[in-house]
Amino acid sequence: MSRRDGLVVAMDGPAGVGKSTVGGLVAKAMGYRFINTGEMYRALTWKALEEGVDLDDHDAVLALAKRLRWEFKPIDGVALKTFLDGTPVTSQIREERVSVNSSRVAANPGVRKMLSRLQRELGERGAIVMEGRDITTHVFPDADVKIYLDASPEERASRRYRQLKSAGQPADRAEILAAILKRDLNDLKREINPLKQAPDALVIDSTRLSMKAVAGMILRRVRREAKNGRR
Ligand code: C5P
Repeated sequence: MSRRDGLVVAMDGPAGVGKSTVGGLVAKAMGYRFINTGEMYRALTWKALEEGVDLDDHDAVLALAKRLRWEFKPIDGVALKTFLDGTPVTSQIREERVSVNSSRVAANPGVRKMLSRLQRELGERGAIVMEGRDITTHVFPDADVKIYLDASPEERASRRYRQLKSAGQPADRAEILAAILKRDLNDLKREINPLKQAPDALVIDSTRLSMKAVAGMILRRVRREAKNGRR
């Protein structure tokens, strides 16, 4: 694989740990593109819900995925956003019904194979920060830099709680924590490509760190690697 444009930085970790914030900061500092692969699973979940497709019918969901035209375009110069049949899917994929149902779509082996292929295509030239649940272990097991970002469930729930409150939205700390624990369980116990730490990943516990500090730690690793590889 020739990665002539730069490194592949792969990042995994549980829900609500700040992978997108940190990944965006790292990509911007390096002049790389950033992609949150969870958005692809969310986009397909949203489309299947809109079309009334049974999310547990693996063949029907895969057929829908194959029927769609998938495109990824930078909307802020850094982050690649998912477009389905020419339409950007952004706010609708953050709906609660999408969050709670996306693990059903993520358990579909055919869908995982197809989306992993799209992800590899997006990253094959390098100069990309890609985050998800199986990027370091399955999509890019040969990534130049691998990061596993972690934080306690309580801290992740508190961050989400503060985010909702400052956006003026209703928030219940106990409900948020329960939803996070449920999503963790789904991601960890999934039969195919579950969330796990790659043995050679740099593990960062961000429970007591700011996103800026975490991005700084990753950037030091990325710059060192870029210098070593003279990319
Ligand atoms: O990252 P986010 O929480 O938005 O991801 C949405 C869903 O997509 C999650 O339920 C997660 O299980 C799934 N996912 C996945 N593999 C990835 C990225 C996300 O299974 N690489």
